[in-house]
Amino acid sequence: MSAGTSYDDVKLAARELYRFYRTGEEETLALRGVSLRVRRGETVAVVGPSGAGKSTLLACLAGLDEPSGGEVRVAGVRLSHRPETERARLRARHVGVLLQSRNLLPHLTVRDNIRLAQHAVRGRPAVTAEALLEQVGLERRMGALARQLSGGELARAGLAVALANSPDVLLADEPTGELDGGTEQLVLQMLRDRAADGCAVLIVTHSAEAVRGADRVVALDDGRAHEEHLGTSGAKERGHVLR
Ligand code: ADP
Repeated sequence: MSAGTSYDDVKLAARELYRFYRTGEEETLALRGVSLRVRRGETVAVVGPSGAGKSTLLACLAGLDEPSGGEVRVAGVRLSHRPETERARLRARHVGVLLQSRNLLPHLTVRDNIRLAQHAVRGRPAVTAEALLEQVGLERRMGALARQLSGGELARAGLAVALANSPDVLLADEPTGELDGGTEQLVLQMLRDRAADGCAVLIVTHSAEAVRGADRVVALDDGRAHEEHLGTSGAKERGHVLR
């Protein structure tokens, strides 16, 4: 650990994560001892080919799935190896999850989607749904349903839902995968802003642009992680062109 950081700064920590899937006689090792840390204010990009274990890793980090071995901690609290209801409670409190355009319930307005996410956490939210929508530039679309939004608007609405409870950790699965260049820039800027506010941000991505903006890159391959300690300029120099 470098000077100037402390263990309190580590907002997301995975230690020796394993995940086995068994289908009949066949066993797949999706994660084979993955360890990583993301500190407050840091953005980490996770890259790797299809089948490398990226979605499995993200699901374990979010507490949506349980690792077969190892441990996940968010904001200093163990998230893994708990009953699903407890994981859901901790996730609502500490983790924002951005899953492409799958963050919104279709029968609720954008504003009510945010309020529903806030309802999962006790006490008054630190930020109102209206203020969040203003932050992402959607204040005029708060009454709209998901199907009434453009791709860029959906991405921004999804981000507002992920940020509903001012999370310590923001996990994003291909947040720019379906977006045009301009909207991609906007979403990446919003993620950078959240990191600047102190969030620990982890992005699973194929986007060269997202990798360039990251502080560090973790390359997953066949369930194993190879961390590349690249600063922004380092990532540029090494030319992480992924698509
Ligand atoms: P990526 O997101 O990098 O494409 P995944 O995490 O989806 O990789 O998958 C990693 C490996 O685990 C793959 O071999 C995949 O086939 C396998 N896998 C993922 N989910 C399941 C599942 N529910 N049951 C069985 N095997 C799975």
